[in-house]
Amino acid sequence: LEAQFAQAQKMNAVGQLAGGVAHDFNNVLQAIIGYSDLLLGKHRPTDPSFQDIMQIKQNANRAASLVRQLLAFSRRQTLRPQVVQIGDILSDLSLLLKRLLGERVELDVHHGRDLWPVKADINQFEQVIVNLAVNARDAMPSGGQLSIRTQNVPASQAQRYDEAMPAADYVMIEAQDTGTGMPPEVLAQIFEPFFTTKEVGKGTGLGLSTVYGIVKQTGGFILCESEVGRGTAFRIFLPRHQAEPEVPAVEDVTKAKKPA
Ligand code: ADP
Repeated sequence: LEAQFAQAQKMNAVGQLAGGVAHDFNNVLQAIIGYSDLLLGKHRPTDPSFQDIMQIKQNANRAASLVRQLLAFSRRQTLRPQVVQIGDILSDLSLLLKRLLGERVELDVHHGRDLWPVKADINQFEQVIVNLAVNARDAMPSGGQLSIRTQNVPASQAQRYDEAMPAADYVMIEAQDTGTGMPPEVLAQIFEPFFTTKEVGKGTGLGLSTVYGIVKQTGGFILCESEVGRGTAFRIFLPRHQAEPEVPAVEDVTKAKKPA
């Protein structure tokens, strides 16, 4: 639990720092892009400098896109939590996921019965699933299977998964791949911002820290189990949304006050 707390604090600090710097940095980049545009307007495409200025603009644009990722990571956007059925979100995503995984990875989605609703931001939650799918795909370069399962986990079973998890009702989303798996020293760092084992340009190391942040903000938990050569399973637990208790009608109140 202490380790989780330390991790959460670190994520907060990095998130705030990244958000603040990213925001100011974006203003600088917009100025560079703006002046490059101005300069481009003063040159013909055949001028020797034209291509150089184009390079400046393109690189500034690339930097701006990195900054956008940082901003997304620091979650400056406002969350719009709604009461949702996770199954519906997964169904809506399945076409996109299939396309993303390519032909060599088989996608198997299995919904638990009578899933409880949860309160989550749909866009953010989609981002979580897409990030997990991208990682699964990258871990299965020669193909494999990604199975996504959903299941209700009642309070009485929550601590079977993790002792630190408060005993409450959760909806679990499990994403299991048959990929390379990870050695323990990699597994220990996957939620760290900027930690990546992918080659430069392929990974930013922000995917899972974003996932972690979103799950935490939703009041949930994420666990990962992995074995080299066998594959990896991520389990996300989102708290069950309990309907607000109805305001008792006037008659009910009087009934409740029956003399003892
Ligand atoms: P990125 O994908 O940009 O590297 P992430 O934060 O999403 O950043 O992931 C961090 C690292 O965790 C990856 O570089 C990879 O080493 C490891 N990882 C994540 N998901 C998996 C997976 N499903 N199988 C194997 N390794 C994984």
